[in-house]
Amino acid sequence: MTRKLNFNAGPAGLPLPVLEEARDQFVDFRGTGMSLVEHSHRGKAYDAVHQEALALFAELLNLPKTHGAMLLQGGASLQFAMLPLNFLPAGKSADYIVTGHWAKLAFSEAGKLGTVRKAADCANVDKTYTRLPKPEEISLDPKAAYVHMTSNNTIFGTEWSSLPDAKGARLVADMSSDILSRPIDAAKFSLIYAGAQKNLGPAGLTAVIVDRDWLKDARADVPDILRYQKHLDAQSLYHTPPVFAIYLFGLNLKWIKAQGGAAGMEARNKAKADALYGALDRLSGFYKAPVEKAARSWMNVVFRTPTPELDDAFAAEAAKAGMEGLKGHRSAGGLRASLYNAVSPDDVKALVSFMDDFAKRKG
Ligand SMILES: *Cc1c(COP(=O)(O)O)cnc(C)c1O
Repeated sequence: MTRKLNFNAGPAGLPLPVLEEARDQFVDFRGTGMSLVEHSHRGKAYDAVHQEALALFAELLNLPKTHGAMLLQGGASLQFAMLPLNFLPAGKSADYIVTGHWAKLAFSEAGKLGTVRKAADCANVDKTYTRLPKPEEISLDPKAAYVHMTSNNTIFGTEWSSLPDAKGARLVADMSSDILSRPIDAAKFSLIYAGAQKNLGPAGLTAVIVDRDWLKDARADVPDILRYQKHLDAQSLYHTPPVFAIYLFGLNLKWIKAQGGAAGMEARNKAKADALYGALDRLSGFYKAPVEKAARSWMNVVFRTPTPELDDAFAAEAAKAGMEGLKGHRSAGGLRASLYNAVSPDDVKALVSFMDDFAKRKG
């Protein structure tokens, strides 16, 4: 088998050693005579997997004791609703910094449940996003229940390299596409959520980190399945968890730890982004990278060739050369290379040499 070089935006690739270990353990899990997917989620074999994964996640995030982490289902999309269900009471309003597709969706979903305000929206006239708002473009409601941001804009390829000033308000971040790609100070956030399928593991599980203190303000009159407090108290075992997804998540975290943890990922991801943006700048007579330099995402690198036809040819020829997932999102067009944790520096080197060759042939 030859492995593809996987530049998909999500679900993303996983490191080969993670897949191989899961394969080797699939039928007879750690000598128990059963597959992990056949074990009780309340049994000893699974419990070890579960507790290990939660502990390692807290360790890699350097999570302060003030914060708790939990693993839920429903994707980041459920969090668009679960967040306001818990933390947007009647009579209050929440602020949303709108920087792209997912931020806009988070804003509109919350608006179905309560009062929301756009604190900023940096859309271009054609509804694309190629930059982040300047500090003076963010107008915050001092009484807001929380301020919501999206740390990395998966579709348009912008990423906050330092946090916006929330002026003391409770800051909430959708980190689906850049969690554990570099160190963060979790204490600065009242809540963080992330669908797992970009940097953490397979689809089917969503990580949520919450300031325990804030939970005292959460609404209790919503169904238990939608209450953060319930899931945190139950150590993410309120109901049957996605056991196999959590197992793969744990294996992937072990791999991240072996690469130097969040700091190791930062060095690896910065080197990959530097290599790819460096090539785009060097070949700027052919490729265009629309995102403002200061807002460039390390995770999703958006670019285009001189014409849509050449974009299609690029994606098709790259696929023939074993490079998957380079077509841009349908709402953004062009091309996009996603450089999540599992993408190796050598994968990026291969992409850059393909880009050089393509520009030479078609330019
Ligand atoms: C992928 C993505 C989502 C949607 O995640 P689901 O798990 O599919 O619900 C939300 N926000 C961001 C930033 C994403 O990248």
